Amino acid sequence: MKSLQSEIEQRGRQIFELVDNHPESLFTKAGFYQRLMALSMRDEQLKLQLFRFVDVLPSLGSSSEIVEHLQEYLAHANGSQKISELLGAGVRLARIVPWISGPVLRWNVSEMARQFIAGRNPNDVMRTLRKRRSQKIGFTVDLLGEAVVSESETDKYAARYLDLLESLAHETKDWTDPLGKNSELFPVVNLSVKISALYSQINPADPADAIAHLAPKLRPLLRRARELGAFINFDMESYAHKNTTLELFKTIFAEEEFRDWPHAGIVTQAYLRDSEADLRNLIEWGRARGTRFAVRLVKGAYWDYETSKSRQNGWDCPVFLQKPASDANFETLTRLLLENESIVTAAFGSHNVRSIAHAQAFAEELGIDRSRFEFQLLYGMAGPIKRALVEMGYRVREYCPVGELLPGMSYLVRRLLENTSNEGFLRAKFSENVPVEDLLRDPCEILRRSKNGVLPPSNPTINMTTTTPKTHPGAPYENAPLTNFALPENQEKMRTALREQRKQFGRKVPLTINGEKIWTDNMFSSVNPSQPDQIVGYAAEAGIPEAERAIAVARAAFEKWRRTSFEQRCQLLERVAEILERRRFELCALEVFEVGKPWAQADGDIAEAIDFCTFYARQMRRMGRPRLTQNVPGEESYQHYWPRGVALVIAPWNFPMAILCGMVSAALVTGNTVIMKPSEQSVIIGAMLMEIYEEAGVPPGVLNFLNGKGSVIGAHMVDHKDVDLIAFTGSREVGLWIWETAGKTREGQRELKRVICEMGGKNAMIVDSDADLDEAIVDSIYSAFGFQGQKCSALSRLIVLEENYNRVIERLLGAAASVRVGNPEEPSVVVGPVIDEAAYRRILDYLEVGKSEATLAYQAKDVPPHGYFIPPTIFTGVTPDMRIAREEIFGPVLSVIKVRDLDEAIDVANGTDYALTGGFFSRSPANIERVKAQLEAGNVYINRPCTGAIVGRHPFGGFKMSGSGTKAGGEDYLLNFLVPRVVTENVARHGMAPEKTPEYRDEFLWPKK
Ligand SMILES: Cc1cc2nc3c(=O)[nH]c(=O)nc-3n(C[C@H](O)[C@H](O)[C@H](O)COP(=O)(O)OP(=O)(O)OC[C@H]3O[C@@H](n4cnc5c(N)ncnc54)[C@H](O)[C@@H]3O)c2cc1C
Repeated sequence: MKSLQSEIEQRGRQIFELVDNHPESLFTKAGFYQRLMALSMRDEQLKLQLFRFVDVLPSLGSSSEIVEHLQEYLAHANGSQKISELLGAGVRLARIVPWISGPVLRWNVSEMARQFIAGRNPNDVMRTLRKRRSQKIGFTVDLLGEAVVSESETDKYAARYLDLLESLAHETKDWTDPLGKNSELFPVVNLSVKISALYSQINPADPADAIAHLAPKLRPLLRRARELGAFINFDMESYAHKNTTLELFKTIFAEEEFRDWPHAGIVTQAYLRDSEADLRNLIEWGRARGTRFAVRLVKGAYWDYETSKSRQNGWDCPVFLQKPASDANFETLTRLLLENESIVTAAFGSHNVRSIAHAQAFAEELGIDRSRFEFQLLYGMAGPIKRALVEMGYRVREYCPVGELLPGMSYLVRRLLENTSNEGFLRAKFSENVPVEDLLRDPCEILRRSKNGVLPPSNPTINMTTTTPKTHPGAPYENAPLTNFALPENQEKMRTALREQRKQFGRKVPLTINGEKIWTDNMFSSVNPSQPDQIVGYAAEAGIPEAERAIAVARAAFEKWRRTSFEQRCQLLERVAEILERRRFELCALEVFEVGKPWAQADGDIAEAIDFCTFYARQMRRMGRPRLTQNVPGEESYQHYWPRGVALVIAPWNFPMAILCGMVSAALVTGNTVIMKPSEQSVIIGAMLMEIYEEAGVPPGVLNFLNGKGSVIGAHMVDHKDVDLIAFTGSREVGLWIWETAGKTREGQRELKRVICEMGGKNAMIVDSDADLDEAIVDSIYSAFGFQGQKCSALSRLIVLEENYNRVIERLLGAAASVRVGNPEEPSVVVGPVIDEAAYRRILDYLEVGKSEATLAYQAKDVPPHGYFIPPTIFTGVTPDMRIAREEIFGPVLSVIKVRDLDEAIDVANGTDYALTGGFFSRSPANIERVKAQLEAGNVYINRPCTGAIVGRHPFGGFKMSGSGTKAGGEDYLLNFLVPRVVTENVARHGMAPEKTPEYRDEFLWPKK
């Protein structure tokens, strides 16, 4: 008996022979597409620019716009001669005759797209399907579309799916199965569906919510498909949607109505590490259900996205990092599917001859007839392989995307990337002529050789596995990963934490002065803004005597703390980080109740607090040792830093842990002693931070916890002669008062007070005429309404160029109407309550102002009747002089301002008192450069939301009336808490001097240990 490997090789060779009879036209040397491919494969940078140009092209209106973009994208590219050839008209020529070059380019790109898109509409696609029928190739049709951002868009999508189904069934009613055998397993009409097109608010943390919305949209489609004898396949998208897609599939096809329907399928992505477990589970489910179903096995289309997303978030990467690992897993899953052929019909979605030949050989080994499974390949790709498979008597189905060019762009770019990928089979075979024996090699064998060091790992830059070694000194700073709420275990931990926190409602927290717990006669309550009758906790309230005492003990503790080595202070922060991590879910749950933060926002707040601790510890180690200023013989001059003294930290409620912890940690690690005053609205979270610092071992008096009214104890301490530094984040009104008051020197005061002052914003984002609206709309909504618009970075002015205005408004209003408002205990809620009654009333007043000044374009209707819920609101017709365009509202209210051009947009964006965050959506490299240079904001964000700064990556803080120009989470932040000092010593004796002076020396500590 032949071994499986030799059987695979024999079949592989046979396929290649058949393929070579009909060479692949896509990889020949003629034509626009072929030249684009050839250029892209030669130069990665050029590939990026060319594909970006392809991406923006359909949304450009005029020829001159097309030519301008082309010039901008290729301004610095190498090989301009080649590029000129490629484009059929030189870049210089294009400038002179844009009316010729623009349409030529558009035509070329449209033609290229047509190679991958089977038709513009259901009628159009039939031409292709008929042709394929004559070649004995079946079809599955997929609807291309823009990313849906609203429920009205999903309704349209669902209607288009139904239309498509009807039309396909009608047009193919007399078609028969190409193999004429086992045809009952393979209906002629086959529709591929993406769940993200049917619900715009899928939140990976809440599969139940997604299923509740998706199932009603799917049922009519499934019902009709069943009546028409068609097949429905659920495509698989990014990892974040994987569990929801699987759950949805299992839920809906277990329902009475669909339980015995065999014509449903789902995709398994072999590049996922957990795909084998998922497939086993699916097969078990199928057996329990008792009806056949289908699985399309693919490697997966989102490899680059998954790797970069997980790197950004610090998550374990869900995909294999070596290409042969995906190939090997594809084979494992192929075997699993074929071994369970009695319940599952397999479709192998691959263009890789090795993967295909393996499936064929294994099926043969098991004695499974060729007509009982199928090969699926993409429209416009690997034509000769399809033909070869048909000739060999296999069942072949083509995946045919249908849609217009603009919505089809992301699909086209994915195909271009796939065809030019260094790792891809098609490039290896058809472009690089890799020998057949290499192409047919066993992937397990390749992996073994790679492990033994014979082959290098394919992606040495990426190392995201769980076994990643801990960071070593000098390694790049790593942020605390965000919690991945797509994982069911994290959802469960959060739900448990919420239950546990509920039990703690009504807890009481004392003041902490010099390590003593102090209860006062006055207690004030902190309530749940979603349900104000629920008291989250009570906190003892400090008056002037307690404030005086706290200052005195902090002053007394300072002498010792300042002489504690910076290393000990750094370790204290690192212990705090560990405790925060350990108590992460508990603290997140507390934030949901005390300040109304949605899950992911609460988690982001705790992650940021952890980051502040680890980042400032790291910075202090960098700055802690005295450093030589210049190397001169005979003299040693060392600069180092002293702490300032007693720091008063006054924090807001909107980032109740992160900002408080950030300011406190910066002050402590630099050797100051601290009085921390949390916001009255988030006092219980503040008390938790005190508790954590105590557990971490902060000495008595070094950190003191004082809760009380800002207007009483806050004002008293700001003005106090023994307070040396005030770190404040909050409103402009209070900030300016602190700035002014701290400027007055009181009798007996030792130091000029330092004020670190971070205030509000009136943040703007500009939408350019060529912006990618799929992104611009989603990111604007998130920036404006996430956490109820209560971030100082939140978007409040959307400035839209008139060319794009109508389209932006239409999609924006639809998207706003789809956002979920409610109690943030539910994971899919995006907009919860505002913080308290005062904020609620103030924002309602602003809504009245807005109605009198501008046009109320959208206001949510369904908000919970109790609790401080403000309906997300959008005003249009806003002009820059209106109050709603100038004053900080701090709520879910967005003003849209229409402008003529980018000049006016920048003027409007900069025409405010504030300069905190700002954003720009554009695909014009020149305009992006301009905005980078001119937008007045401490944090400028391009093509992404304007909120969500990450410690170390986006040092955060603004200027003008937004703040004193400091950057929390930045390299120079700690300097604000320190005074620099230089110690110079003449070390020469009678001309005799040491030859070398070290760059760093030990700290100046007294007394020395
Ligand atoms: C009919 C059909 C339907 C499809 N439907 C879906 C779908 O619903 N969802 C989906 O996600 N995909 C889907 N795909 C798969 C996807 O679009 C690609 O076509 C497919 O992954 C390419 O694999 P291949 O076997 O043809 O080529 P190969 O060249 O053998 O494999 C390329 C694939 O290997 C993987 N890979 C690349 N580099 C690495 C690396 N360094 N480490 C590990 N793995 C790597 C990637 O998945 C990449 O796509 C479908 C494909 C077909 C043919």
